[in-house]
Amino acid sequence: MGHVTTPQTNCTDTASAREGCRPKAAHDASGAGSGPSPGGAVGSLSRYTAKLDAARSDDAVSASRLVRFMLQREAARLVPYKRVAHCLNTPIGELHGSGSVSVHAHNGDAWLAGLQTCGSVWDCPVCAVKVSECRREELTTAISTARARGLGVYMLTYTASHARSDDLSGLLGAFLSAYRSMVISRAYRAVAASWGVLGTVKALEVTWGGLNGWHPHCHVLLFSSADLNAEELRAGLFPAWSAALSLHGLTATAARGLDVRATYGAAEDYVSKWGRVSSSRAYGAEDELLKAHVKRTRGHHMPVPRYSPLDMLRATACDGFGFYSELWREYSSAFHRRHQLQWSRGLRSSLDLSSSVPDTDLSAVTPSDTFFAALLSEEWYAVRWVDARARVLSLARAGDSAGLSALVADLYARYCSEYLGVAA
Ligand SMILES: [Zn+2]
Repeated sequence: MGHVTTPQTNCTDTASAREGCRPKAAHDASGAGSGPSPGGAVGSLSRYTAKLDAARSDDAVSASRLVRFMLQREAARLVPYKRVAHCLNTPIGELHGSGSVSVHAHNGDAWLAGLQTCGSVWDCPVCAVKVSECRREELTTAISTARARGLGVYMLTYTASHARSDDLSGLLGAFLSAYRSMVISRAYRAVAASWGVLGTVKALEVTWGGLNGWHPHCHVLLFSSADLNAEELRAGLFPAWSAALSLHGLTATAARGLDVRATYGAAEDYVSKWGRVSSSRAYGAEDELLKAHVKRTRGHHMPVPRYSPLDMLRATACDGFGFYSELWREYSSAFHRRHQLQWSRGLRSSLDLSSSVPDTDLSAVTPSDTFFAALLSEEWYAVRWVDARARVLSLARAGDSAGLSALVADLYARYCSEYLGVAA
């Protein structure tokens, strides 16, 4: 399929008119995601639920993608000054007037190319899925290799006590400093040496609860040549963790500060779910629960017991709650440039894994020889005006060239008449 056909309108008659087709948002330094949408402001429960209900009739991949694009748009609205506002939205060459967008499809999947990507696992529900799929494969390989060599793989969860009044930035900084202090402490290194610890992989996460506020924590896969049980691990590590926390003004109870799972199954189960629950699952029961929650609590602002950052985005997308918007902004600021997944030095090579690829590179990958269609920049502006990205990709996945052409032509005509005020 070549260029998507575009209807002849007053918009496309001349180069100057073509320039006039560019939406104001494309020139707005505050971010390309800030352009107007035909339905008015983002944050309407009825529009959100209507789109989700419509997605149910589509296949799971398309429904999941539609939700992720909606939540990405919400993130862009909350932090228009960050890269997520341009992710799969602003053409790479737009600033130089040479932006062109292409649609790719292969083997039942589809991609957009020629667009900026942010690679942020914290801010962007779309990039988070791409990155976590690759990271999950690496973790699965690491566990299989360890298992084949007879190594133990243990899953540890480190937490610290916290209060509703704690600000996330300060709490997170102290928590991560405590973890660093622990792993370089004499006590930790002595225990690790006695257990033949090969290394660790640390995954950082956070939730927020109405009772105790922010809850930063990390899950750690520990690879060791020793055959250990949960009690041995806890007794060996908790004193070092507790001492490190106290160095940075934090505490933890023995019951909650360190959780240990000492089976392959626990590690494999965690890895198989990693990144999926929080970012890539299709429309499902959780959305129903959220819709029920929003309806139930509207007007008296009672939060649910525990929210992930993605739940906060869903809440703001549903109802535009300022409360959850501010929570998510605080989270986005505190986690900026933080590592989500950290392998201890030497572990990857010991398990025969190549060097890690940066998140930004993973998020920009498009398989070669998969070209399906090209969109003129004006056509792309029409697609993003109503955020029809998921629909475009759904048609490409189905190999429906005619459907894609018709969709783009229709959007372009509406974009000219309804947004630009030019007769189509
Ligand atoms: Zn992104």
